[in-house]
Amino acid sequence: MSAESNIASSKVLALHPDRLFAADPLQRDIARRLYARIKDLPIVSPHGHTDPRWFADNQNWDNATSLLLLPDHYVFRMLYSQGITLEQLGIRRRDGVAVETDYRKIFHIFAAHYHLFRGTPSRMWLDSVFHDVFGLRESLSPATADLFYDHINAALATEAFKPRALLDRFNIEVIATTEGALNDLKHHAKLKGTGFEKRVITTFRPDDVVDADRADFAANVQKLGEITGEDTSNWQGYLQALRIRRAFFRDHGATATDHGHPTANTADLPLVEAEALFARCLKGASAADAELFRGQMLTEMAGMSLEDGMTMQIHPGAHRNHNAVIFERFGPDKGADIPSPTEYVQALKPLLQKYGNEARLNIILFTLDETTYARELAPLAGHYPALKLGPAWWFHDSPEGMLRFRHQVTETAGFYNTCGFNDDTRAFLSIPARHDVARRIDCRFLAQLVAEHRLNEDEAHELAYDLTYRLAKQAYQL
Ligand SMILES: [Zn+2]
Repeated sequence: MSAESNIASSKVLALHPDRLFAADPLQRDIARRLYARIKDLPIVSPHGHTDPRWFADNQNWDNATSLLLLPDHYVFRMLYSQGITLEQLGIRRRDGVAVETDYRKIFHIFAAHYHLFRGTPSRMWLDSVFHDVFGLRESLSPATADLFYDHINAALATEAFKPRALLDRFNIEVIATTEGALNDLKHHAKLKGTGFEKRVITTFRPDDVVDADRADFAANVQKLGEITGEDTSNWQGYLQALRIRRAFFRDHGATATDHGHPTANTADLPLVEAEALFARCLKGASAADAELFRGQMLTEMAGMSLEDGMTMQIHPGAHRNHNAVIFERFGPDKGADIPSPTEYVQALKPLLQKYGNEARLNIILFTLDETTYARELAPLAGHYPALKLGPAWWFHDSPEGMLRFRHQVTETAGFYNTCGFNDDTRAFLSIPARHDVARRIDCRFLAQLVAEHRLNEDEAHELAYDLTYRLAKQAYQL
């Protein structure tokens, strides 16, 4: 028997109503009752990376491959790990060398390797998309690849599958996109007056103008000056320009900022030192200066959040573009980012000494280092009024990852120092499935506490509502 023929393809695509609940009958019954009351609540998606152009232009998507596969680095990182090249998957190369452009062929490659996703959250999300969004009832396999591709493309061409129609169908109350500090926000501007301007909002992500490691840092800071009319060659003008951009983003719906830093380091330098550091960074920063400057800017941004009320998200710990060959050929966000160990207790101390006691401040911490949940993050968030914990993130946005998060933080931080779920995704069609996984896992965790008489069932119902809906709206001021 060849290796290929070992791969069974079960024919029926079905989603079990009890999926992700505990196998224990008592816990499963409780989880069913909890879930029944919250499963249809509106989706609040306060952090993510969908393309605002979709909602602004409201055009039909072209085809299954460019919507479902090409934006999803979870998908092609797995295929790449098994020897499929990114060229075969149609990922554009920076040097213009030709890559596969036959979308049907790419979809066939995906179908032929769909078994690779067994046991991964991607498999659950994709099966939910096929079943719930497109109404498919057969499993994806080489034999059904054409059926899937044609069925999905035909659906995508209809009115019901235009982006705004799907916002309604998915019951998305609000969705935040993420834009860099220099973005003109023209897509969000186009939404004004359409009734969608409060449903599709932006997020202020200033990494491009605070990360002096970037080759384009000085040019970006100069551009920041041009679009704000401030002299960003000096420290005070630069800070004022950032305040102006924050106000511009708020005018386009933003209630939050986001900071994707390699570490959680913060700094609180005396004014003269901050001025001198900024001047050095504009000339081309050393690695140490760039790290110190990013840290100083987190503290500055916390101060601005106190002024203007924006929630601040800190996403540290991704070692970006670990695979230099892939980065050179294809650029960032190609599935080659790898989590790094991250330290929070010492790193956040300068910021927390200055602003940690401010109850009006909302700082949401994320991690890719699960060893910090119980040791660092839960104790910090369980003490400082300014801190909350974001949900299990990225590699840990998974059934097991979410359970580990709840098991390790709840006893110290409680539920109310957490912020509900966010999907953090580019894969728009998978948003209902991702939120459904989070809802099921939270109900599963709560059901265990009820079954062990650590929580009353009426409290668990209230918590299920809060974790699904209320805490996200509160933390992001939506
Ligand atoms: Zn994100």
